[in-house]
Amino acid sequence: MLTSRSRGFDDRQRAAKPYCQCWSDSRPAVWDNSSGCRCGEHSPISEWCWEAPDTSSSSWVTITQNQKQVTFHPFYSSGTAAVKGDTPLVNDYHYYWEVKMLTEPYGTDIMVGLGTSKVDMADSLFKFTSFLGRDAESYGLSYTGALRHNATVTKDNTGFCKGSIIGVKVDLWQGTLEFYLNRKSQGISFYNLRRHQALYPMICSTAAKSSMRLIYAASWQASLMVDAVKILAASVHGELALPPGLQSTLKSQFWLTLPNQKCIIDEEELKTETSQRQKSLTNLTLSSGMKRKHWHRRW
Ligand SMILES: [Zn+2]
Repeated sequence: MLTSRSRGFDDRQRAAKPYCQCWSDSRPAVWDNSSGCRCGEHSPISEWCWEAPDTSSSSWVTITQNQKQVTFHPFYSSGTAAVKGDTPLVNDYHYYWEVKMLTEPYGTDIMVGLGTSKVDMADSLFKFTSFLGRDAESYGLSYTGALRHNATVTKDNTGFCKGSIIGVKVDLWQGTLEFYLNRKSQGISFYNLRRHQALYPMICSTAAKSSMRLIYAASWQASLMVDAVKILAASVHGELALPPGLQSTLKSQFWLTLPNQKCIIDEEELKTETSQRQKSLTNLTLSSGMKRKHWHRRW
């Protein structure tokens, strides 16, 4: 296995966090196997699945019957295996999906991302490589925190580890790609995705017996309603009693209201905002930078 672990990489790797405490080494595991933890998996929504590999690929990839859980290189690894979603993403929709890393990542690369139909999923089976983002046809977030596209790499987040939930938000109304780690936005990484004809969710790994599970996959057509839901959710902070229908929508489509990085506000700002709101309703929508950004964004 090709491994090169610089000091910087080790630092980042330590910063990567699981979503819940089930995966902490200091706690005894309360379940038998790596797929046992269901934390954060409250919604059964799964609009697409991983494409089942043909039988000749079974030495590189195995996939559960429900086509959600993928194990790469179930015996040993001799290169890079990749799997893509069975449904293309289409323009003018918002997409959000989440993958849970079920094993401790190691080796050359394990990535979550997306790519076009031009990506040859089998061309690196005998090559250890960072498969996603090596050209203009794909985008990937590595477990090391590296973001790759068009053979360009940036590293500005913590990456992921066993138990992390990696979220991918693709806005094909505006053409943006935003990664989430444990439901925290890592900021918009890429723009101009609408230039691609068809994009598919993708994951890849060089590590033997590495495993990931698709835990959520939803989409929503871009509309004024989505804009309204976002603004409403950002405004109420759970203080108002929402109509039951909207409450249940916000629960099952929780990703619609996950703050993006620009919208994350600190406690102080929230307090100021609340007191301002009490003073004057007319100032409500312009009482913070966050709201202004919301209003000025075209979702
Ligand atoms: Zn858990």
